Amino acid sequence: MKIFLKELKEGKTDFSYTLEGKESEELFKDSEIKRVNLNSSGWIQRKGLEYIFYLHVKGFGTLICARCLDEFQFFFNEDYTYNVFLGKDPSISKKEYNISDKDVASIYVENYELNVLPLIKEIVLLTIPMKPLCKENCKGLCPVCGANLNNKNCGHETKETYSPFTYLLKRIEKKE
Ligand SMILES: [Zn+2]
Ligand SMILES: [Zn+2]
Repeated sequence: MKIFLKELKEGKTDFSYTLEGKESEELFKDSEIKRVNLNSSGWIQRKGLEYIFYLHVKGFGTLICARCLDEFQFFFNEDYTYNVFLGKDPSISKKEYNISDKDVASIYVENYELNVLPLIKEIVLLTIPMKPLCKENCKGLCPVCGANLNNKNCGHETKETYSPFTYLLKRIEKKE
């Protein structure tokens, strides 16, 4: 999905784009989020050769919980504003799209073509937490038998943090 800056009229132009199915699979194939369905919308404002781009991305995808290893649906709803500049990024070492925070970011566009998909991808990836959890109080897996403790109680003692040390202590206790 590309916006051709040369063809834009002065003032605001709205857009909206739905990403799903094969196209979304392709975009997110090398990332941890799968089966992404999203709607992107926004506007681009042109004033001479100055462009401001506002992008709103809302949708969901599937992630794997870091504690219980189950899949769960992850919802996102984010928006970013960019200053669009024509030409090459002056700092080559910088990332292609510099949107590390919520401030107005800068994008450098060559050939008057603003490619929106990489921006959408980056926005979604930035919302994924370092340790995704299916729910805040996910009980995780039993360290003894590996059962998903959200679904069943296998009866094993899991209250204390499991470590080789507590395991050894238990064996010693048993022997006495
Ligand atoms: Zn979980
Ligand atoms: Zn167990």
